[in-house]
Amino acid sequence: MLWAVFISKLIFLQPDLMGNQKLNVMEQTVIREMLDERGFIDEPVGPEIKLVEEINRLKKEKNAVILSHYYVESELQDIADFVGDSLGLSQEAAKTKADLIVFVGVHFMAETAKIINPSKKVILPDLKAGCSLADSAPADKFAEFKAQYPDHKVISYINCTAELKTMTDVICTSANALKIVNSFPPEQKLIFAPDKNLGNYINSLTGRDMVLWDGACMVHEKYSLEKIIALMDQYPDAEFIAHPECEKPVLLIANYIGSTTALLNYVEKSPSKKFIVATESGILHQMNKACPNKIFIPAPSIDSTCGCNDCSYMKLNSLQKLYICLKNELPEITLSDEVIQKARIPIFRMLEISK
Ligand code: SF4
Repeated sequence: MLWAVFISKLIFLQPDLMGNQKLNVMEQTVIREMLDERGFIDEPVGPEIKLVEEINRLKKEKNAVILSHYYVESELQDIADFVGDSLGLSQEAAKTKADLIVFVGVHFMAETAKIINPSKKVILPDLKAGCSLADSAPADKFAEFKAQYPDHKVISYINCTAELKTMTDVICTSANALKIVNSFPPEQKLIFAPDKNLGNYINSLTGRDMVLWDGACMVHEKYSLEKIIALMDQYPDAEFIAHPECEKPVLLIANYIGSTTALLNYVEKSPSKKFIVATESGILHQMNKACPNKIFIPAPSIDSTCGCNDCSYMKLNSLQKLYICLKNELPEITLSDEVIQKARIPIFRMLEISK
């Protein structure tokens, strides 16, 4: 592997060299190969590097903003300028004055930030941080599906690829899905993609019969109904709260259903002292910070030995990768102008409706 040899040269480069594209063509090819294979620049970082200090220094020097999702590791939430769910992060990306956006989350989120800010550089610590839900709706298959419903408008959950966004009328997040669906007159036929569980849930709230794409999140569909019921028996004073990406039987027994931010707001306001939480476990960090005297129990998944309620994609992010990414301004998110122009329309419609 050519890049493995090249890495020895790479670590002697001054910070910013790659960001300023001072590498020659061969060197850039090698870097691209490494990013394709690994997803990040796998350079050694000595123990003398104080990661948090260095990240903060580089952030200032480069006028960068760090946007972290609630599902990443706690230290990556704590170092961020803004922590939020998909809606909050897109709203933040839309108003940032920073020159460089560092998106600590997964690929479709960084793509969304790029679509909102085409003139800015958007980087992601690990390109392999994908999403099972976004992967469940390949653009070519979705185009065939959509063609079967020519009189339907398309609402896509933000957890989808940029290509799928280009085939969408309005984007939504779990925080605003109900509002977005209700923005269409009742007689308008709708397709909802890619999350069938969220689509089902919104159908049940609105009485609509949206056509659903058959996609799901590998974290939220793994919760065990039986184990949750057993936990509720064990903690009768606990409220069970769930994200609408969970399957219907799990949602049916929930005391409260809401987006990640809505769940966080709910535990702050509720008089209850104990909660069983069915969403990615990263949010427990913010819940514990907001309510240090309350107890949060992660809802168990089907196989409690596998850590299924951790999103393995989100957990690919680390402080070291964030440091390397910020130093080198790589990996960078790039999209064609055509995709950006088409995908902007449904995203900005969503931001307008969500104001
Ligand atoms: S938790 Fe699910 S929907 Fe969210 S990024 Fe991970 S796989 Fe995708």
